[in-house]
Amino acid sequence: THFGFKDVPKEEKAGLVGGVFSSVASSYDVMNDLMSAGLHRVWKDQLVASLSLPATLRYHLGEAKNSGEVADSPHFRHLDVAGGTGDVSFRVMDVINDTLDQTAGSPTRLPPPASVTIIDINPDMLTVGEERALSRYGPSNVAVRSDVEFGSEPEKPLNFYEGDAQYLPFPSDTFDTYTITFGLRNVTDPTLAIREAYRVLRKGGRLKIMEFSHPKNGFVGEIYDKYSFSVIPAMGEVVAGDRESYQYLVESIRKWDKQEALMERIEKEGFVGVKYEDINLGVVAVHEGWKM
Ligand code: SAM
Repeated sequence: THFGFKDVPKEEKAGLVGGVFSSVASSYDVMNDLMSAGLHRVWKDQLVASLSLPATLRYHLGEAKNSGEVADSPHFRHLDVAGGTGDVSFRVMDVINDTLDQTAGSPTRLPPPASVTIIDINPDMLTVGEERALSRYGPSNVAVRSDVEFGSEPEKPLNFYEGDAQYLPFPSDTFDTYTITFGLRNVTDPTLAIREAYRVLRKGGRLKIMEFSHPKNGFVGEIYDKYSFSVIPAMGEVVAGDRESYQYLVESIRKWDKQEALMERIEKEGFVGVKYEDINLGVVAVHEGWKM
């Protein structure tokens, strides 16, 4: 292809993860609410707030004139990888829309100067996300999955792609912000996904990873272990008719990187200013890094 993208090995698309998310796609949102007692909404709000999008957008809109800064490109782009049914992308869209509305004399609302791109490997999750997006923003604001190559036609405010976090179908130095929420743990080789994040981010771009993590408090850890190993698979069976997928979920959290280990991985791929923040005592952690 003319962007020189790496080809996606077909065999990577199949496998356990694909099956898991296909079987849970329709009940995914309900299960999220149940399993986290609605907390995942708060976590995602916090994640999006931590991106400081209004300030970044004003900079892109040239509002930083006063401070003498001029953005390299007026087009702000956010990428949400393993975006699933759209939870994080929609929050980013809403913040962008609000900011542009509030920006007096702003020449345009979305489309450009801002757009959001969501990519996920699972077509069933994307179908749910696309339907939600179409009813929320209308067909003129949403590009559903297509085989159109990124950049070959004007982007819409929200753009859906099917693809692998390890082999992103986007040119290098494209996005200003990158999120992956409860997705990195499921990627076959998370290091490869972090490397791709670095490649597609622009200089000055920001990475945010939200993932289940490891509570450091022994008491919280114990309760959490008991809860996750007994309650979650049982809920999966009752609500989604699928105990195994939720058993897999719990086991994969236990095997996942501790906070410091993930930080090191991110630093090794070239990100700077890498740090993390525990949420709910480390049940969840948000890692961030910058491409400089
Ligand atoms: N980010 C969404 C959220 O927070 O609600 C969805 C999270 S869901 C737990 C994990 C998602 O990761 C699934 O939609 C799954 O299809 C996707 N996924 C797993 N492996 C992937 C990969 N290699 N590339 C892209 N997406 C992947």
